[in-house]
Amino acid sequence: MLVFHLASARVLVLNASYEPIRIVNWQNAMLLWFQNKADILESHSYQVKSALESFPLPAVLRLKKYIKPWANGQARFSRDNVFLRDDYICQYCHKSFAHSQLTLDHVMPYSRGGGKTWENIVTACKACNHKKANKTPQEANMPLLKEPKAFLQRASKPISKKNKDQLPEIWKPYIFI
Ligand SMILES: [Zn+2]
Repeated sequence: MLVFHLASARVLVLNASYEPIRIVNWQNAMLLWFQNKADILESHSYQVKSALESFPLPAVLRLKKYIKPWANGQARFSRDNVFLRDDYICQYCHKSFAHSQLTLDHVMPYSRGGGKTWENIVTACKACNHKKANKTPQEANMPLLKEPKAFLQRASKPISKKNKDQLPEIWKPYIFI
């Protein structure tokens, strides 16, 4: 059971101002902590073991340094921001997935000149990414859920009203929506 919990464990990251700004997997959360970029506010009762020590698995982290909301209204292009833009929904099969199950797909394949841009990168589950392979959506007969565009949201909102009910109990004191 522990393995299952670890594989799906997600960690809420708060800005230095305590606003929730993103959700990361536990490996990325541990990295933020090891790099001294964040404090652990809440932990799960189980531990992550390394060769020398064991650590409580974080549930809520707070960044030490305040991250400014995206200044010009356009989000920095990154894997996490593409997932946020697409609401963690595979743009081919329209299903919702955990962060660890998602990949970035080049709409026009990289091998055929497709760039790494907001307009050419979408969220795809592993199965769809594999199935689409080196084809365009038309060739693969896998139409996109929506046309990919630059992400213009001014501040990231990792939590929507829609998914509020499925949130871990331990996050709830930090979320006001
Ligand atoms: Zn899919």
